[in-house]
Amino acid sequence: MTFLRPLRPLFLYVLCLAAFGAIVNAQVKPGRDPNQPIDQDYTNKIREYTTAPYFNSPLTDYLPASSDVPSPKAVLGDVAGAPGKLPYAEDVYKYMRMLERASPRVKVFSIGTTEEGREMIAVAIASEQLISKLDENRARLAKLADPRTINMDEAEADRLVAASFPVYYITGTIHSPETGSPTALMELAYRLVVDNSAYVKSIRDSVVTLITPVVEVDGRNRMVDVYNWHLAHPNQNWPSLVYWGHYVAHDNNRDAIGLSLKLTRNVLNTYIAWKPQVLHDLHESVPYLYDNTVGDGPYNAWVDPILTDEWQMIGWNNVSEMTKFGMPGVFAHGNFDTWSPGYLMFIAATHNGISRLYETFGNAGADTLERTLSPSDYQRTWYRQNPPLPKAKWSQRNNNNYQQSALLTSLHYFGNNSQLFLKNFYLKSKRSIDKPKNEGPAASVLPGDEVRTGNQAELLRTLQAQGVEISRSAAPFTTAVKKKVGSNNTSGRPAASPSPSASPTPTPKTEDRTFPAGSYIVRMDQPYSRIADALLDYQYWAPNDPQTDIYDDTAWTMGELANVEVVRATDARVLQAPMERITGEVRPAGGISSGGSAYVVNHNADNALVTLRYRLKDVEMDAAEEPFEAAGRKFNRGSFIIRKAAGDDLRRAANELGVQVYAVADPPSVKTHPVRAPRIAMMHTWLSTQDEGWYRVGFDQLQVPFAYISTQDVSREPNLKSKYDVILFGPVGRGAQAIINGMPMYGNPIPWKKTQLTPNLGSIDETDDMRPGLSWSGLQNLQKFVKDGGLFITVDDTSEFAINYGFTAGVSANRSQRLRAIGDILRMKTVDATSPIAYGYGDSLAMYCMNGAIYNLNNGVGGRGGRNPQRMTGRGTPDDPDTPQGRPPVEMPEPPPRVEAWELPPVMDEQRRNAVGLIPPNQRPRVVLRYADSRDLFVSGLLDNGDEIAQHAAVIDVPSGNGHVLLFSTNPFWRGQTKGSYFLVFNAILNWDNLNAGRKLEDK
Ligand SMILES: [Zn+2]
Repeated sequence: MTFLRPLRPLFLYVLCLAAFGAIVNAQVKPGRDPNQPIDQDYTNKIREYTTAPYFNSPLTDYLPASSDVPSPKAVLGDVAGAPGKLPYAEDVYKYMRMLERASPRVKVFSIGTTEEGREMIAVAIASEQLISKLDENRARLAKLADPRTINMDEAEADRLVAASFPVYYITGTIHSPETGSPTALMELAYRLVVDNSAYVKSIRDSVVTLITPVVEVDGRNRMVDVYNWHLAHPNQNWPSLVYWGHYVAHDNNRDAIGLSLKLTRNVLNTYIAWKPQVLHDLHESVPYLYDNTVGDGPYNAWVDPILTDEWQMIGWNNVSEMTKFGMPGVFAHGNFDTWSPGYLMFIAATHNGISRLYETFGNAGADTLERTLSPSDYQRTWYRQNPPLPKAKWSQRNNNNYQQSALLTSLHYFGNNSQLFLKNFYLKSKRSIDKPKNEGPAASVLPGDEVRTGNQAELLRTLQAQGVEISRSAAPFTTAVKKKVGSNNTSGRPAASPSPSASPTPTPKTEDRTFPAGSYIVRMDQPYSRIADALLDYQYWAPNDPQTDIYDDTAWTMGELANVEVVRATDARVLQAPMERITGEVRPAGGISSGGSAYVVNHNADNALVTLRYRLKDVEMDAAEEPFEAAGRKFNRGSFIIRKAAGDDLRRAANELGVQVYAVADPPSVKTHPVRAPRIAMMHTWLSTQDEGWYRVGFDQLQVPFAYISTQDVSREPNLKSKYDVILFGPVGRGAQAIINGMPMYGNPIPWKKTQLTPNLGSIDETDDMRPGLSWSGLQNLQKFVKDGGLFITVDDTSEFAINYGFTAGVSANRSQRLRAIGDILRMKTVDATSPIAYGYGDSLAMYCMNGAIYNLNNGVGGRGGRNPQRMTGRGTPDDPDTPQGRPPVEMPEPPPRVEAWELPPVMDEQRRNAVGLIPPNQRPRVVLRYADSRDLFVSGLLDNGDEIAQHAAVIDVPSGNGHVLLFSTNPFWRGQTKGSYFLVFNAILNWDNLNAGRKLEDK
């Protein structure tokens, strides 16, 4: 095997030394090769569509001609970025495949399909020599990515680095209204193939550029439909893009933790297979080009400092080069903290590569528009010395110029310094393997006696999808783990909210713990230890952090959100435990034990149970209302009892779903009620569908069927109860009035429908006019649905909607004034373990919270409840009676009993005299979970002023007529990350007609 590439003499000069790169850089001037003819028509159009010369660069103000390679015009009918032209994904692919046919410098790969079956591709472009050696190069990169394969041999690594060329992976238009990148990437591909200038040739000869031109393919095609509708109806208002992908909109690039979406999986798989050194995601928002990789603090605390330096190097080089081109408005520092690992581009950062992201300026379509900026965008600041113009005519072509010019300068810089970046890639991989020896931890352990084996396996499969290796212990083993805090905390999780003044202990306290055989071990001496460590660890965002403009969630601790135990093993002994690496996907064992013709299934709030219930929807199942013992084991409240079932069907389902079923001779004699598989509807607005989209993902993954209806459907259906048992209304984020009113009825109707002009709209749901909301008739229909016995499930702002419109007597809600719980994880305490909604859960649960609403309870309608009166100013000590002057003391009545924040105050005699507003005992709210006390509330992320929400009710079951309304202050379904709280919703659904089970009513 030879490690020298014969056809790259340049490489000898740049070997390992970035300084030489700079010299080469200076020698190669950006700009066209005067000996290569240009495509004059195309070049003229570029100049025509660019609104001012300074919005272009010497790299993109011409197009080189080619006699055999077609330009983007072959598909677009015009140049890239032309006004009025937005190609569908298929047109972009068609062009990329034309390039592939025309040139040995291009190869197109299919990388998977979307939820709606559309293809995703990756296009590799480099010199024909490099393209012909892709596989050999990939084998070398795989060794650099896993230094264990070369025994961490530095000299061998240097040889591999010298022989390899880097892969730079660019991804376009994940955010569908950000429309420019597909055409920019078409033209960039053409330039990389055809342009003979020394500048572009050096890129082609030193870097493999890998391009996924459209990441959100379903959303792209919908966006093109909407734009085409707008062109066909020039004087009308057009539909907003209410659906992007099949499930979620803007948050489709926040899925790199939960991995719920196919686009994330496809890009992740491509990343892991190709071992690129960079993943660069293209976005559009602020003028004119913000390289937000440099962004602002706090930076993610689990990435290698080598990476954060690389961000600076490449980012500032971009600014420097484009400033020299005279292009205004290019900057690197700015408003984006790089804390969350959930962004798509962060796949590279957590896998030893380099994550990058551009925000360029787009017009959300291909119209050329006069754009007036706000002062915050055009003012000069220290990091933006050549700011954007306050006002300018802006075209999609301008945007394409910026995108391509910036990418070309990045690729050029990367190619010139390829040896440095490849060596860094190796070093970051090596330092990931050295983690136990350096910063630690040595491993994370998921104990073999976990009660939620399904959720545990699901978490481990998510890590496996990230490329993380999982091992399983063959025998019990003992290792040091982080010491448990507090006496009543048995999980080893942090117990109390850290006070901001608390300083970290210099060495964490540890203790020995023995784990059973069958425990899962996530070793940290592996190349992708960083992503495992980042996802399993806890987060701490200081309340006094200078960054007050928090960009996204502050916490994501996977074990807590999955409600499974993850233990941090701190000493290297754990790595010596007898263990075997798991080769296939982690699957929990399921099946049926022998012993009788009735069956019991323990309820552990493991999500597989809801799949089992719906898979066998015709089998009668009951829920035990009290814990019981059977088959020599303890079963929790809520456990399923199946008195009669076809054993084979049950066995097949149990095996497939990893559910353990116990056969018993006689069903246990415990109080039960039926657990049915009710008819579910998910209701959406036409205002925003993203956050409810996470509910649809979760339900579809677990094969829980539902009807998908809009608020408009509900406004037209007076007898909802005849169709549905449960209506789930996920978060909307627009406020209660907007839910009723919809959009303003000014102007023209706004259709969202599949038509010849818009073939990609309407597949999820459709309407002739997006504007009308739920309306008052819809509100009445919903209220009747509940009175008739239906269950209405609401979350966050839709709970406030339910409260504001009178669904929930006895509950009021306030928004916090001081609390900052920004996408963090907080601890809930179980208040009523007998409620079916709490079945399978323990006495506490960590939940995702985004400044949840603060609920207060009252036993009367409309009351807001004064509670626990404080004594007034007066004489004596605080507990002395304040005797007025000039009269003898009187006997004081017994003070009212103390009422906790989550409790209903007791009914006072005064209320009963004429009990008009007094809620009857069986209609009063029933609190299932509450926020923990202040000192126990904090789990992970940012919590500031937690006392404002501490102890308040978090999950409330409110009876109303014959039905129920369920209120969530927290969000149980968030970005596929909160699988541990899904079953609160599933419990409510499965027990929808028996939610009063276990309830103790007040006698008055
Ligand atoms: Zn974006």
